[in-house]
Amino acid sequence: MRKILHADCDCFYAAVEMRDDPALKDIPLAIGGSADRRGVIATCNYPARKFGVHSAMPTARAMRLCPQLKLLPPDFNKYRDVSRQIQEIFHELTPLVEPLSLDEAYLDVTDVARFRGSATWMARWLKQEVLARTGIVVSVGVAPNKFLAKIASDWDKPDGLFVIPPGEMERFITDLPVKKLHGVGPATARKLEQQGIATCADLRDQPLERLFDQFGKFGQRLHELAQGIDERPVNVTRERKSVSVETTYDRDLPDLARCHQALEVLIAKLGERLTRHGDPAIAKQFVKVRFDDFTSTTQETGACGVVHARFHELLESAWQRGGRPVRLLGVGVRLLPLDRRQLELFP
Ligand SMILES: [Mg+2]
Repeated sequence: MRKILHADCDCFYAAVEMRDDPALKDIPLAIGGSADRRGVIATCNYPARKFGVHSAMPTARAMRLCPQLKLLPPDFNKYRDVSRQIQEIFHELTPLVEPLSLDEAYLDVTDVARFRGSATWMARWLKQEVLARTGIVVSVGVAPNKFLAKIASDWDKPDGLFVIPPGEMERFITDLPVKKLHGVGPATARKLEQQGIATCADLRDQPLERLFDQFGKFGQRLHELAQGIDERPVNVTRERKSVSVETTYDRDLPDLARCHQALEVLIAKLGERLTRHGDPAIAKQFVKVRFDDFTSTTQETGACGVVHARFHELLESAWQRGGRPVRLLGVGVRLLPLDRRQLELFP
């Protein structure tokens, strides 16, 4: 049985800004693009959330919900520095760290002997050290696999520490609402609920073929997750073939205009990830679209270096193929294989 931690900083960008200027602490604060440039909210603090502001929301809408909202532009250099410090603390515990973004990582602590092998104590130590050394609050989930560890880190947020021991895994999953599963947004949740499927226990009772018929490959994945099966390892040194980010939306994006807007958030996140990978050699750019009827399409094009406007062009042609509401958008780049990269460097 493995021991996996998922560590996730609470409203990271906003937390860094509040740390550096305590006057921001108790007022509604958001980090994002300005409303007059069709910007979106990247992160906001908890006082802002009380007004209904959340990440990925157009800034114009956030300002309507909360007129006194303090808006700051993101300072990625600063966030990267803090992120590096936090990643170093992770690495003091184990070399098996898989960063997912600037403020989030999986750690495989199965073979860590410190703290008498107690993953709970390790999680407690991580929280203490990150707070003491960087002033940032991190929520940690502990579980026997990645998917449950990620749910666990979110369970008690903010400042959470939630443990799903192997012995309680079965009970935890049984009561788990299906909407907590990765990839299940409100639309899918509704679809499942119409068939009387509200929890993972209900999902487990479904014949695999039936789920497969309705949701394709994703149905098979749902079937596995409902049984707590997730064998994905914590990846440390794989050769990356692509870098991408995608989001399943709580509410389907009704039209192309909203898709363009949502794409901006994804492009910003992708930029952040590419920097973390040391701006690798890029062979192609792509955009992925999944419509509300679960059909997916990917549009890609050759590139060397990321061109912002090209993502919007790709979106345009991908969207035309379905021309209907969109439940998931993704942007990414395919990388040159390592040996080809050498050739590019030394032609
Ligand atoms: Mg976070």
